[in-house]
Amino acid sequence: MRVRNWGRTVAFQPVRYVQPAREEELVKFILQSREAGQAVRVIGAGHSWPPLVETSGVLLRLDRMQGLISVSPSEQLATVWAGTRLHRALGLLWREGFSLGNQGDIDRQSIAGAFSTGTHGTGKEFGVLATQVAHYRFVDGRGRIHDVYPDTQPELFRALQVSLGLLGVITQVTLRVEPRYWLRLTKRIEPLETALARSWEYLDRYRHFEFFWFPYSDQAAVKLTERSERPGRVPLWRKWFIDGLWENGAFWTVNKLAQVSPSRSPGICRFAGRSMSEEVRVDRAYRVFASPRWVRFREMEYGVPAEVGPEVLREIRRWIEKHQPAVSFPLEYRYVKGDDIPLSPAYGGDRVFIAVHMYYRMPHAAYFKGIEEIFQAYEGRPHWGKMHTASLDYLLRVYPELPRFLALRAQYDPEGVFVNSYLKQLLLKEAAQVV
Ligand SMILES: Cc1cc2nc3c(=O)[nH]c(=O)nc-3n(C[C@H](O)[C@H](O)[C@H](O)COP(=O)(O)OP(=O)(O)OC[C@H]3O[C@@H](n4cnc5c(N)ncnc54)[C@H](O)[C@@H]3O)c2cc1C
Repeated sequence: MRVRNWGRTVAFQPVRYVQPAREEELVKFILQSREAGQAVRVIGAGHSWPPLVETSGVLLRLDRMQGLISVSPSEQLATVWAGTRLHRALGLLWREGFSLGNQGDIDRQSIAGAFSTGTHGTGKEFGVLATQVAHYRFVDGRGRIHDVYPDTQPELFRALQVSLGLLGVITQVTLRVEPRYWLRLTKRIEPLETALARSWEYLDRYRHFEFFWFPYSDQAAVKLTERSERPGRVPLWRKWFIDGLWENGAFWTVNKLAQVSPSRSPGICRFAGRSMSEEVRVDRAYRVFASPRWVRFREMEYGVPAEVGPEVLREIRRWIEKHQPAVSFPLEYRYVKGDDIPLSPAYGGDRVFIAVHMYYRMPHAAYFKGIEEIFQAYEGRPHWGKMHTASLDYLLRVYPELPRFLALRAQYDPEGVFVNSYLKQLLLKEAAQVV
């Protein structure tokens, strides 16, 4: 069976494709593969761009291990199978009376897959999504099952929060949840400079703040989200027709025009920027967070120290104006609270995350490279699930706890069952093993 990722940057044929239905089966597959000397990778929804899940050995998918295992209303904890797709988990939680405190832009990923790369949303009080976890259960490279809690095994717990599947296969995750709530989203069009200047104020005033900006244009679409005391609901037909068909259709046309006529992309971007519309909506929290993404693209995202966020975006703008790349996708600007997770891009302090995108049928390399140099000049940290070309030396510099993480990896997977050639090249050269 041939496997492709969402972004069409990875395609491969594993020697074996396995979908265990129970934990015992999963353990059996890991032990068999280890015995046969076959590497194992686990895939979530395949929504990462780098070849994190690529393997010429065994590919595990946990689609048959989905759903809610238990809910503790008094402790506000919910345990789910780790392969559960976010949208499914969120619907099930809502029915039980709960919501997650924070989400990213889409909800198609699996819980373990999203959390394992440091997936994040935005907001001054919100860290990467894995900061909402209270317990992990995982199977290591020797087939042993571990239940890990922050108070009893803090170092292992923190490593599991963003682990790229290198410590083992996560089978269950306990989430800290909140009583279910509604959100009011206000989308406003503002000059980019106003959005940047007011970003600190917005971060203080609103639960979630972010904006999208089309290169070459002056306008930004600012999204300000806060809790709504009153329930509301966007009719499904509207969500499907306006957000889905209409917005994605219009956006697809913009990208096709740029693909056919790349030299016109500055004008196309300016037009797209002017065409962005304002809106206010109230809906269930999980529906406000996530939007449908039907137009495929490639993405690179770095988290830079929060205080330099506006400066970095201005520098990117100058770079774009000077080099005039053919691009028809907006940039996204978000804020993530700092944490103590060794492989989290927000390790050690708040970060502004800036994401650049390219329609998947247009060349991205020169555009991404030019902007990546700016990110790295500011000690930015790459999102592990998105495209980047950071070297191991660079990663060791900006992720000070990377060697400790790798030591734990060696402890829980001494034979390297969960290592593929991409991760070996990225993280496991000799120097990185030294603690
Ligand atoms: C359209 C789109 C929108 C996105 N929006 C956002 C966003 O708003 N914010 C953001 O931060 N990111 C975003 N991303 C990136 C995305 O959230 C990450 O790449 C995420 O890791 C993908 O989850 P997945 O379930 O597809 O996992 P995969 O890509 O399949 O796997 C990711 C990693 O998790 C590991 N893994 C999967 N399952 C397990 C398991 N059970 N145990 C251990 N390891 C496991 C894999 O081995 C791999 O290393 C977006 C991506 C796309 C395509």
